Amino acid sequence: MSKNLVIVESPTKAKTISKILGDDFRVVSSMGHIIDLPAKKLGVDVEDKFKPVYVVIPGRKKILAQLKKEAKGKENIYIATDPDREGEAIGWQIKEKLFKGKNVLRVSFHEITPHAVAEAFKNAREFDVKMIEAQVGRRVLDRMVGYFLSPLLWKKIARGLSAGRVQSVGLRLIVERERQIQKFTANEYWEISVELFKPKVSGQSNFCAKLDKIDNQKVEISRNQDAQSICDQLKGKEFRVLEIKKTEKKRYPPAPFITSTLQQEAFNKFRFNASKTMLIAQQLYEGIDIGEDNPVGLITYMRTDSPNVAAEAIQEAREHIGRSFGKNFIPDKPNVYKAKKSAQEAHEAIRPSYICRSPEAIKDFLNHDQIRLYELVYNRFLASQMKPAEFLATAVDILADKPSPCPQGLGKYLFVASGSRLVFEGFLAAYNKIQAEEKEDFDEEKEKAKNVIPPLEQGELLGLKTLTPSQHFTKPPPRFSDSSLIKALEEEGIGRPSTYAPIIYTIILRDYVRRIKGYLNPSELGIKVNDMLVEYFPKIIDVKFTAAVEEKLDEVAEGTLSRVKILEDFYLPFKESLDFAQANIVKEIITTDQLCDKCGKPLIVKWGRRGKFLSCSAFPECKNSKSITSGVKCGVENCPGELIERHSKRGVFYGCSNFPKCTFTSRDLPENKE
Ligand SMILES: [Zn+2]
Ligand SMILES: [Zn+2]
Repeated sequence: MSKNLVIVESPTKAKTISKILGDDFRVVSSMGHIIDLPAKKLGVDVEDKFKPVYVVIPGRKKILAQLKKEAKGKENIYIATDPDREGEAIGWQIKEKLFKGKNVLRVSFHEITPHAVAEAFKNAREFDVKMIEAQVGRRVLDRMVGYFLSPLLWKKIARGLSAGRVQSVGLRLIVERERQIQKFTANEYWEISVELFKPKVSGQSNFCAKLDKIDNQKVEISRNQDAQSICDQLKGKEFRVLEIKKTEKKRYPPAPFITSTLQQEAFNKFRFNASKTMLIAQQLYEGIDIGEDNPVGLITYMRTDSPNVAAEAIQEAREHIGRSFGKNFIPDKPNVYKAKKSAQEAHEAIRPSYICRSPEAIKDFLNHDQIRLYELVYNRFLASQMKPAEFLATAVDILADKPSPCPQGLGKYLFVASGSRLVFEGFLAAYNKIQAEEKEDFDEEKEKAKNVIPPLEQGELLGLKTLTPSQHFTKPPPRFSDSSLIKALEEEGIGRPSTYAPIIYTIILRDYVRRIKGYLNPSELGIKVNDMLVEYFPKIIDVKFTAAVEEKLDEVAEGTLSRVKILEDFYLPFKESLDFAQANIVKEIITTDQLCDKCGKPLIVKWGRRGKFLSCSAFPECKNSKSITSGVKCGVENCPGELIERHSKRGVFYGCSNFPKCTFTSRDLPENKE
């Protein structure tokens, strides 16, 4: 029988580690958290230093009993939960609940490889109380906010709604963006471009240039007729090369992934939402059956905000780059990436655990999504240790002037032609980053690469092939996607590696936000909830305030601030807003001009967890209620019904008001066909 017991939180991870540790170790799984705050009570003793009152999660008693049985007769008990605050806390709970007073050691590793696991057991340690304090601090803060705010939403809007601390800030960003979009008015502007060529050269020499200045003034054309009149004046002018500027440009590789950048890129490249990316990354981290006896961990831990990389991994990458791309792709010194100031814990970037396991080599063992994400992590890591790409950028100033000066005195039209040529591929050989949000820049860059400028000389006369005015409109800021919201949260200092995905997941689950074609749209309910929170709790769901709380939690983890202190600092102003809101919030009544068909009293709009509906104002005497239809006719021919917004676990859909007689449904609201 094994002398040692190792407890982890997931069965796959248990299997992967078990193979590495061998027969002396019995590895079992706790299946996640075992104790937590109670579901229906506050579970925090506000009077006594905000002490959390934990209970065993319903249904987990059996696991507890099993773990206790497994521990019998073992000489050593190790807890090897994930290497972050959450993992430390799960481990600590297991120790406190089952093995109080016994010698239980903590082992933590950022990847499940023989080397990393052996090192971790060599360095088995006591639990890190500071990390646990920070986790408890977050849990208690979130609990207090959710527990006290939710009933206010019930009072004002509808029963069953809930609000969370960080999620509400995410919702606020989305609602504010929506309002910017609604307020936005598009402005018309015109661009004038020309296609020029070298008159005395045979073969292709066409290239494009854009009108940049008129008489040294930056060109601004807002009306069609102005564009036309400029075009008229340009016809018949001489186009002459004024100046040729050539610059060498370098594009540096991106840092290896951390949680936020992985989530962003997986969205931009594959449209994976943040939760999906984390789920797949976790599978790759915990271990996948790749045709050996047991699963093998393929990437390092996926919750991290540090771009650091172990020296051995860098060395392996450099060797691999030399073999696969050539020695000239390896920089003289390894590339180093700086962590942000707030980076938590001594983590590593997300990278492949074994450079020798190329995506190509193991693709038969991974499903489609796994292989795509693995390839992304793998190539990004290689690229991060490669040389920059080099471009030669050309900008040519072209003057359209003479032979006849314009009657209005306008004369000098300056055009600019830009082109760019890749001179050395560098990291682009392994990885090409495309930011959806920067897609326009990217398109511009692509345009430049397509614009092949022939060899030109100063003073050279060019032929005019085409002259094209084009109409454009300024665009409103785009709605957030998973990717751009995570970027914004990170920039504002709100998110942490463990929270980006849950923030988005939660506001969608509550139907405050809907993901439509990849973009996050606030629902009517979400806007109502947000407006109430902003009105009564402007500080609690303030971006800067939330960022400051996150920083303080980091300080707790570092041991420079006490958990009780930050909870006290938070609670007093919070309690004040809370008391004010409790005294002042009243139910909002939205009247309609429709009358109840049972009692004749007016109908009013009410909100439920699942959207709004019409209810008799005489409720509870009259319990009549009606759905609110969208006004769009049912898609079935001759059906008199109209479509009604309905909700299922998978999100919003539209069903016929004639249900159950008619079972027509649609994901999107079709347009009325009349
Ligand atoms: Zn009625
Ligand atoms: Zn119908």
